[in-house]
Amino acid sequence: MVKEFSIPISRRDLFKLAGLTAAGVALSGSSHVDAAEPPKQQGFNFNGAQIPTLLRADVCVIGGGSAGTAAAVTAARNGASVVLIEKGSVLGGLQTQGLVYPAMPTRIPNSDTPYITDLNKRFSMHGINVSFTDEPQYKNGGDARQYTPELLAFIYDELCADYKVQVLYNATLIGANTADGKISAAIVHTVEGLSKIEANIFIDATGDAALSRYAGVKVERGSEHTGRNQKMSFRFEMGGVEEMKVYKFFVKKLKDGWCESKPPEFEFAKTTYTEKFYYEGIQRGEVTKDDVAYIQAFTIIGKPGTMSMNCPEVSPYLFSSTNALDRSKAIRECRIMIRRLAHFFQKNIPGFKKAYISREASMLGVRESWRIQGKYCLKSEDYFNAQKFPDAVCRTAYPIDIHDEVLDNARNLAKGEFYEIPYRSLVTNEISNLIVVGRCISTDFPVQSSVRIQPTCMSMGEAAGIASAYGLKNNIAVNAIDWASIPNRSYVSQG
Ligand SMILES: Cc1cc2nc3c(=O)[nH]c(=O)nc-3n(C[C@H](O)[C@H](O)[C@H](O)COP(=O)(O)OP(=O)(O)OC[C@H]3O[C@@H](n4cnc5c(N)ncnc54)[C@H](O)[C@@H]3O)c2cc1C
Repeated sequence: MVKEFSIPISRRDLFKLAGLTAAGVALSGSSHVDAAEPPKQQGFNFNGAQIPTLLRADVCVIGGGSAGTAAAVTAARNGASVVLIEKGSVLGGLQTQGLVYPAMPTRIPNSDTPYITDLNKRFSMHGINVSFTDEPQYKNGGDARQYTPELLAFIYDELCADYKVQVLYNATLIGANTADGKISAAIVHTVEGLSKIEANIFIDATGDAALSRYAGVKVERGSEHTGRNQKMSFRFEMGGVEEMKVYKFFVKKLKDGWCESKPPEFEFAKTTYTEKFYYEGIQRGEVTKDDVAYIQAFTIIGKPGTMSMNCPEVSPYLFSSTNALDRSKAIRECRIMIRRLAHFFQKNIPGFKKAYISREASMLGVRESWRIQGKYCLKSEDYFNAQKFPDAVCRTAYPIDIHDEVLDNARNLAKGEFYEIPYRSLVTNEISNLIVVGRCISTDFPVQSSVRIQPTCMSMGEAAGIASAYGLKNNIAVNAIDWASIPNRSYVSQG
């Protein structure tokens, strides 16, 4: 890898380069800001711009979430030099910055790919046992995977150091150089200004398909029926919780049927404002209908006395995950909701009397935004038919879990049934050296709500790491790789 000097580029030049001079008006310093029409076509192609190269590697992964970190570590493990670009200061994405916990089960035995097994071993080495219990929590099989978010962040750093992944924190992808159906460089903004990251292969693990969009890949967003994106949440944690008092209250007093898990690690839910407990809180003016529309909380392994709140959620009618201003407004709105919720819990749930807000997410909880149009679009029929593929990279039976509309024909797969995710849903026709992983792969809206869980994102990332190293060694474009012919692939299809 070569590190070169970098020249900071002024904001004016930045917009010129991106062909976005008009956007400068919105940043002119006026105290009154009008929301302009969002651009229909996003022009983030930096071809021809004089931008210095900061790093050069075999593989450049953009986004260090569960999928991107798995991709980077696996590519490096398989011999590639790897740069991992992350706009935050921690790896894990939603797992760490978004406080999303725990990793949901795929609800099918033996779905763990080797990367996940290795990660579990690392947790054991740090004293956290993430192995399955004999009696799975969930009726259809499988346990939620518990981890401590702070320990996960540390382990991700440790993994990257062990396999010599060059992590570039606080670097935001803002565009791409493309030519002849290939990406030649990712354009990032760092403390030094604008820089190029050059690589042979690029992996888009941004969750929002950012690199793909900037490189001109076609994308879809939201539901095919309603046009809406899934609901967003802004998660938080509460410390000072007396957990057993909480458990007894929900299970024994409120008869919380959702709560399939048992102490020491358990959850409570009572989703919907029509539940008497919440309804009365609304009547008393302590919470709003929106505050309690979806409530779920988990104890956190390794953090006794702390609960992870999978709430509040904001209405998808008011806040869209594909609108920058909505995302910003949602954060502010959620902070207000969090305070109301915390107060409501303290007042009404035994065990929360001395509880306090101990942490708020540093990243909005976006379940779904843009999805690429890849070589194969995984459809609802594939889910319902428990479809298998010769180029499958992993399997799951996690339900279609849309936080908004309910599908007419929705049903969970029967016990033992599962579907597979094909490699072709990770690659595109347009860009030959791009692999896309995580929650923005090529699926329809309903299936995205099943593939998005963390273990599946990790397995996709792992597959991308293997495919990139294989493509490099054998001089095959990654969008032309026949996954089934890779000798050391992580998953063999059951088809
Ligand atoms: C509220 C909520 C609750 C959920 N609950 C669960 C659950 O209980 N269990 C479960 O398994 N799954 C759950 N999920 C789903 C799951 O957490 C996510 O789908 C999954 O973590 C996505 O992983 P990812 O790697 O694709 O994306 P992300 O985790 O979003 O990672 C993307 C990374 O890319 C970085 N990035 C983005 N843009 C740029 C850029 N331009 N430049 C540089 N870096 C960039 C981000 O900072 C981030 O680190 C939940 C999701 C949400 C939102």
